[in-house]
Amino acid sequence: MDELLNSLVETGLRGGTPTRSEALAVLRTSDDDLLDVVAAAGKVRRRWFGRRVKLNYLVNLKSGLCPEDCSYCSQRLGSQADILKYTWLKPEEAADAAAAGVRGGAKRVCVVASGRGPTDGDVARVSRTIEAIKERTGGVEVCACLGLLSDGQAERLRAAGADAYNHNLNTAEATYGDICTTHTYDDRVATVKEARTAGLSPCSGLIAGMGESDEDLVDVVFSLRELDVDSVPVNFLLPFEGTPLADQWNLTPQRVLRILAMVRFVCPDVEVRLAAGREVHLRSLQPLALHMVNSIFLGDYLTSEGQAGKADLEMIADAGFEVEDAETTTMPAHRNGAGGAAGGAATSATTVAQEAAAVPDAPVPESAVPESAAAGRPERPQARVAVRRRGAGTELPPNA
Ligand code: SF4
Repeated sequence: MDELLNSLVETGLRGGTPTRSEALAVLRTSDDDLLDVVAAAGKVRRRWFGRRVKLNYLVNLKSGLCPEDCSYCSQRLGSQADILKYTWLKPEEAADAAAAGVRGGAKRVCVVASGRGPTDGDVARVSRTIEAIKERTGGVEVCACLGLLSDGQAERLRAAGADAYNHNLNTAEATYGDICTTHTYDDRVATVKEARTAGLSPCSGLIAGMGESDEDLVDVVFSLRELDVDSVPVNFLLPFEGTPLADQWNLTPQRVLRILAMVRFVCPDVEVRLAAGREVHLRSLQPLALHMVNSIFLGDYLTSEGQAGKADLEMIADAGFEVEDAETTTMPAHRNGAGGAAGGAATSATTVAQEAAAVPDAPVPESAVPESAAAGRPERPQARVAVRRRGAGTELPPNA
């Protein structure tokens, strides 16, 4: 074990790439070795990002009723999940939500819309929204996540002020057809490349916990490394009742930590962002993840609620980390400008949740966190996914 970890740290400290067998070995370490694995990944994290934590804030511009069939998604074709469904937010509504996230400490706002991809009219609408957000917030970084892009759309988003574009690969190329039949892995790769070419900082990540193998996880993370994205959001499946993967409760907190360590070792000097599923799957072990990731979402996710934004800030401070301020460049100097004008971390999107910012000391939703970290898998695990009922698309204030 010492030999493996010493090799991974040495490679990570110089920004190198470990072998696939080393990455696989991280996923197969024992619980006895877990803290050593976290500590080793923490050395690499601190080499490139210090103790800073970047906060990102999701604004769901358009929710539900998607024609695509991504099996993990609560907004998919035929989803019976009881999520909020609404059409496009007005630019000023989106700017209101974004401003709440910025007041809560976010330095990047991620604007997301369900669907296969935007029409040119959608791009024009989102461009107005980006301009409204920039004006309201004094120029906060904005990442767009609108699905597959057509010719010229990435350039128009860049011209409107978008700093980054998110489109996740989600899982390995070899098994992509198992989770979606309405578009392909290659479609997704093409959009990530189009975003980069247009000068947008590329953001692309994965979802773990869908029944994939260790090899699948290693494959998708190496693919992301080869795509040279600036930011890698790591999502952990939220098995929404009413979706095909509702019974896929495969993750333990220890497994989640091993996956995050593997991603950090394979992508040592890029933004690794802990995304959806953080509260549900890590539970009381969330602070350990901060030793490996340098970025999280503040507040609620797209269709589910996370813990209170105030609790996120307390967790960061208690664990000995600091929220990254707007003036600090996220990425290490050698990567500045690597993927686009943002020169840094990218935004992503999948799910973020939180409590209403206007409700001080709002409790963590019972449905989002089990009674006890030691409780293990509850009898009705589906009850742990808290559907978002506040913020964008509702009359209630957002959680930030
Ligand atoms: S992930 Fe995106 S494209 Fe797939 S079903 Fe959900 S909203 Fe639609």
